[in-house]
Amino acid sequence: MTSPWEILADKVLSGDEISHSEALQVISASDSETFSLVEQAARIREHFWQNRVRLYMLLNAKSGLCPEDCGYCSQSKDSKALISKYPLLPEETILKAAEKAKELQVHTFCLVASGRSPAEKELEKVGDVVKQIKSHYSFKVCACLGLLKKGQAEFLKYSGVDTYNHNLNTSRNYYSQICGTHSFDNRVQTVNQVKEAGIGTCSGGIVGMGENFQDAVDLAYELKALGVDSIPINFLHPIEGTSLSAVNDLTPLKALRYLCLFRFVNPSADLRIAGGRELHLRALQPLGLRVANSIFIGDYLTTKGEAPEADLEMIRDLGFVIEAASV
Ligand code: SF4
Repeated sequence: MTSPWEILADKVLSGDEISHSEALQVISASDSETFSLVEQAARIREHFWQNRVRLYMLLNAKSGLCPEDCGYCSQSKDSKALISKYPLLPEETILKAAEKAKELQVHTFCLVASGRSPAEKELEKVGDVVKQIKSHYSFKVCACLGLLKKGQAEFLKYSGVDTYNHNLNTSRNYYSQICGTHSFDNRVQTVNQVKEAGIGTCSGGIVGMGENFQDAVDLAYELKALGVDSIPINFLHPIEGTSLSAVNDLTPLKALRYLCLFRFVNPSADLRIAGGRELHLRALQPLGLRVANSIFIGDYLTTKGEAPEADLEMIRDLGFVIEAASV
C-alpha cells in the first residue's frame, strides 16, 4: 500500500505544493512513522541535490557585547553564559580562518558578527576583508551582521558578499516569546533588503524553543514566501546562563521530522543541518543528511562542533560527495 508520505512526496516531485494542513501532518508524524517519512523526504533531496553535500564554515568574527535580548543566544545582553567577548577580529585572523576554510573544501565561508546591526566602520572592515578573500579563494562568502540599514546590503554586494544570513528563527506568532528588542518584521525587512540588493538569501530557524508544530509550519511557509535560497535549521542548544537554558524539547526522531517539514515545504532549498545537530540528532545525523543537503563543519559561534574528520567520514560513508562552489 502506498504510504501517505509517498503520496505527498509524489505531489512535491510533480511540482505541486503541499498544503499547510499536510505540512502539519508531516511535523506531527509519530516516532514509528518517522523512518518512512525520511525515506520520502530523501527522494525530494535526491531529486534536487543528488548525492551532493555543501559544507559551510562559521567564523565568529565579533562575539558577545550585543544589546539585544534573544533568549536562545549566549551573546545577548541578558545572557550570563561564560563566553569570550571581543570586537571585530583583525584582518589577519579572518584571513587565516579563510585559509582553513579552503583546506576543508567549504562551499561557503560565513563571517558572523554579534550585534543588532553593523556600525559603518565595521561594515567597511568587513567589506575590505571580503574583497581580499574573494580575490584569493573560489568559495562563496556569507555575511551575518544583523539588521541592515538602508544602503548596507548594496555596499556588501559591491564588496563581493555572495549571501547574507539573517534567520527568522521562529514564527511571527511566537517571536515575542523569544525576543523583545526587535520584531519579526524587522527581520523580514532585512531579508527583503538583501534580496533587493541581489545578494543570495540565507534564512532559517531555531527549533525546539518551546514553539508548537503550527509555529514550525508557519516558519517554513514564511521562508517559502520570501523565496529564501538557503535554510539553516538549528536545534536549540540550551546554553547555561541563557533564558532558554532549561528548555529541552527535542529527540533525535523529532529533530528529523523538523528537517522533513522544511524539505517538503521548501523542496529545492539548500537545507542545512546547523547548530545543535550533534546534541539532538546524535547517532541519527546520517539520516539528517539524507533530508538536508548541507552542514556546518567545525565549531559553531560559541559552542564546539564535531571534529571535521568525523563529518567527512560520515559523508563518504553515505556515498555522498562534497560540492565545491563554482566561481
Ligand atoms: S542572536 Fe544576534 S541579535 Fe540576538 S542577541 Fe544574539 S548576537 Fe544579538
